Parts: sequence; structure tokens; C-alpha cells
Amino acid sequence: MKIKIIFVLSLCLCASVVNSLAQKPNEKPNAEIQKMIREISAKNIEASIRKLVSFGTRNTLSEQEDNPARGIGAARDWIFSEFQKISADCAGCLTVEKQTFLQAKAPRVPEPTNLTNVVAVLKGTTNPERVYVVSGHYDSMCTSPTDAKCDAPGANDDASGTAAVIELARVMSKRKFDATIIFMTVPGEEQGLLGARYFAEQAVQTKMNIEGMFTNDIIGGVTTQKNSPNRKKVRVFSEGVPSSETEAEGNTRRSVGGENDSASRQLARFIKEQSDKYLKNFSVWMIYRRDRYLRGGDHIPFLEKGFTAVRITESDEDYTHQHQNVRTENGIFYGDTPEYVDFEYVANVTRVNMISLAALAIAPARPQNVGIVTARLTNDTDLKWDASTDTDLAGYEVVWRDTTVPVWTNSVFVGANVTTYTAKAMSKDNYFFGVRAVDKDGNRSPVVYPRPMR
Ligand SMILES: [Zn+2]
Repeated sequence: MKIKIIFVLSLCLCASVVNSLAQKPNEKPNAEIQKMIREISAKNIEASIRKLVSFGTRNTLSEQEDNPARGIGAARDWIFSEFQKISADCAGCLTVEKQTFLQAKAPRVPEPTNLTNVVAVLKGTTNPERVYVVSGHYDSMCTSPTDAKCDAPGANDDASGTAAVIELARVMSKRKFDATIIFMTVPGEEQGLLGARYFAEQAVQTKMNIEGMFTNDIIGGVTTQKNSPNRKKVRVFSEGVPSSETEAEGNTRRSVGGENDSASRQLARFIKEQSDKYLKNFSVWMIYRRDRYLRGGDHIPFLEKGFTAVRITESDEDYTHQHQNVRTENGIFYGDTPEYVDFEYVANVTRVNMISLAALAIAPARPQNVGIVTARLTNDTDLKWDASTDTDLAGYEVVWRDTTVPVWTNSVFVGANVTTYTAKAMSKDNYFFGVRAVDKDGNRSPVVYPRPMR
């Protein structure tokens, strides 16, 4: 990544040391990430949320044309113009697009309706084919998902996530990254994850290599929970057993373990590790679940298509301010209005996203074809993987942990020109292993959990 030229040069001066085996690349924090943490603005986020709320309703079935002041069409056009302004400020660095499709009749769509995803693409410099997607849904609802007329301010659900995506585009577009980042806002979430599903389907058709997807949904940290310790953290939901698992993969998993080691779970661990490294007063709370109890979100269509994805949501939801007609009943106020959004909290969640996306997009890709060789019965563990094609690769790290521990606890740097490693006298029966790639600046990819290989 260009922003660290000075550091790369200093490493090159001692290239002989770097190239010698088992020299562990430096792990110091990235100065540009530290700058971006400061650039993320709660004021900007507040302005975006208030603007989105000002459209009265953003119900997916609300008016789309001829009214710039009300309805989902007005919100769509405003988001599009915000992305365009951000792009103008970075010499056209973003490709801004309205991705419109005709949604057929569905349980919450009484007649065929046009839906429009609004996306901005920040193309990667050296590995543009590797893509990360960060998303929020810009539609809203009141009590009924098909009521297109009622006021549905949707300040927390999900103007907060949409505002985070816009702020990420603003701050991150001022930098260059190895891989591509797509800033995505979608409608139709409340009608059945429709905008996200369309994007995921298109990505499969065009063979887009999405290496990670985050959905931000309800990240406003409602103010009624002001004194809860949970307000210093945000939940990151990740599934254990992949939604896309085949019967054969299920059989393998049952015979070797790994129900706690899906690619999405590795992504969640990566997010926690990176975010906790930079943010001292705000932490990631990993939840080992696909989503909240019996509920869903826009990461699920991505998971079902085999992509790696997580959901990011505040820790304390207040259901009086979610999916409610705005009203006061028995002295209790109901409604998803901006008074119940904590803009500083949203800014912190936006920082968690930024840190993780930047760390992913400057790091090497995950190693491919990582396996545990099972040709012999042994108390050693024989790992193998394919050689990386990343030009600034420093090498590989093998990680491991006790089987009952939730996060990776141990690692060893095994060098650059190797694609095998034997963990001596450490049985694959007793530990979980993984492999990740490391570049010369010390940026690490997420871990890949090996599959058995004969
Ligand atoms: Zn939502």
C-alpha cells in the first residue's frame, strides 16, 4: 500500500534480514489507519442520519419518482449524489452506480417493484479483483413492512448503517488500497433482504471475488441504554457452520471438527483483533451466531452464496424504537427517531468497520488450498498451502489454539519460500491450526482453517 512507502524502504535497507527465515514482520500500528480514526466524524454521521430521516418514509414500496422530498426514491437519489460528491473530491476515484432491478411479487412486495442498490466502488491498486463489501440498508419501515404511507423515520434501522457507509466512503476514498472496497447501500431489507440478495446473485454470475462482506444494521446505540456497559462495545455476529455447507463438507466437518472455524468466524476474529489493537475504549463483542435469535440481515444472502460475511449491530437494542409507528401510548414514546441515536456511538462502530476494511484491503489475500496432510498416522501436524502471488509477501504464519479456546492464541512465522510446515509433536487431534499470509509491512490476512488432504 502506497501510504507506507517510508516504512517499506526502511525494511528494504535490511532486506537480507527480512529474507532470512523466520524474521517476524513488524506489527506496529498503521499511521494512516490512526489518521482515519480521527477523520471519522460523528457530526457528518448525524447530518446524514437527519437527512435520511427527513424523507418521511423510506419504505421500499413508497414513492420513487417526482418527489425529491419524500419516499425511498428521494433517499436513493440523495445517497447517489453524496457518493458523487465524495468521488469529485478524490478526482473521480469512486465508480458510483445505481443498480436497478425489477423485484417480482413476493410476500412483502404486493406488485412488481423497481429496487435500486446504490454503490460506490473504490478500485484496488495492486489486487483490484479482490473485493470487500461494506453495507447498510437505506429502506425503513414502521409497524407494518408493507405500509408505504406511514412515517418511518428509521434513524437507527438503518439510517445509522447507511450513514456509516457514506462516512467510510468519504474517509477511505482519500487513500489507496491494494484490494477493492465496495460501499453499498440497499433497499428491500425489510421485505426479505432483497437488495442484498440481488447484489450477491450478480456477484456469483460475474464471478466477483468477494473476500469479505460486512452488513451494518442498527448501529445507533440508542440513548435509552445510556448507562449500560454494553455501550462501549459492538456486536459482530458470525456463523459457525456455513450456510452454504454441502453434505460432503458437513461429513468432513463432523469427522475433523471445525464447526467453530468457518471463514466468517475467522473474519470476525480478524475484526476483533484489528479493532482492539487501535481502539482502547470501544471493543468488538464477538457473537458466535449467524444473527440475532430467529432474526436475519443482509449478510445472509451472501453467506448462502458461499461468501464470507458478518453482521455488525449495537449491543443493546431497544424495541420501542424499532419497527414502530411513531406514537405515544400509555406515556411511552415509540418510534425510530434521531433523538434515540447516539452519533458518537455510530462513529465508533464506523471506526471498527474502517480499521477492519483497511487492514483487509492492505493485507495479502488469504492463503489458498490450506490443508492438513493425512497421509500418515502421526502426532506431528503436517500443513500445506499454495504459494501466494502477492508481490509484497513476507511469508506465512501458522497459528494454533487449544480446541476449547475461542480465539487464536499462538503463532509462528515460518518464512516466505515455503508451502509446508510440520508442527512437531503437536497432534491435530489436540489443537486447531490455521495459516495466514503476512506482507513486508506486517499486515496479516485472516486465518484459513485447513481441510484434510490425502
Ligand atoms: Zn435493519
